[in-house]
Amino acid sequence: MGGTVDEHLEWLELQRSKRTFNIGDYNVRATPDFITVRGKTSETWGRDLELDRSRAKVSISTESRTPLFIFYLIYIAYATGFLMFFITTGITVATQVTIFALALLLMFAPLAFDVLLSTRQFLILTAIFYVAVFSAAGYEPLATAFKAVEQSVGKGYVEAFIIFASILPLLMRRMISQMMISYRLKLEEGPSKFEVLTDSPGAVELVNYLREGGTKRSFYKFPLFFLTLSRRKMKPCFYCSTPTLTECKRCNRPTCAEHTGMLRGFKVCLDCFIERRGKIRRNLR
Ligand SMILES: [Zn+2]
Ligand SMILES: [Zn+2]
Repeated sequence: MGGTVDEHLEWLELQRSKRTFNIGDYNVRATPDFITVRGKTSETWGRDLELDRSRAKVSISTESRTPLFIFYLIYIAYATGFLMFFITTGITVATQVTIFALALLLMFAPLAFDVLLSTRQFLILTAIFYVAVFSAAGYEPLATAFKAVEQSVGKGYVEAFIIFASILPLLMRRMISQMMISYRLKLEEGPSKFEVLTDSPGAVELVNYLREGGTKRSFYKFPLFFLTLSRRKMKPCFYCSTPTLTECKRCNRPTCAEHTGMLRGFKVCLDCFIERRGKIRRNLR
């Protein structure tokens, strides 16, 4: 490994860390040192805004384009339908009200977890929630509530029904947030401010990229078992000599996961990545 290779590799890494994000009427270009906002409309054309990346504050929030009350109405209608399954006879009004409250908790707890927590925390807490609820099924007022549901859905289907009925609002929320939400992106550094309302998912990508630094890209790694089986087929990475199975789809040189880029779903070496990025239309030529 000569010094020139290291310098070249450094240059390639730098090039890779520069990225441009398409955010509706603007392009935002990020390098390790600067964030440049470039307008694409005639009013903003030529008036670039440059921010110091290390001092720039970045934030993103979601806004609904459709009045939110419409979604609340949908949820209320859904909840009313769900509560119908919990109506039972021969109990006091107070008990019925308690059972309704319990039903609402069953229905909205996973939704609340989903809104408030990360995906991982949501999965763990929701699983614990169901286990806790179903293992307490013998106790009042859960016992009466489940018996009421059982009369409608049949014996043995109570758990499945409740899980399905409480997961459905989550799917509704996912669909709504994908269809109806736009992003308010803010970049700030001292007196320089940039704020835009956009539908472009590029805004989310930009924020993730700026927060994580964006130098590392993780790829699917082979299980170790297969790696040892095919060790003979492994070749040293062109850049760092780490044994690897991956080869550049364009020039066939072996490259490790660290020194591989993705071009339209193809793994390529860093040189090919930097050379062809943004120029690809149909193939790798
Ligand atoms: Zn490498
Ligand atoms: Zn290549």
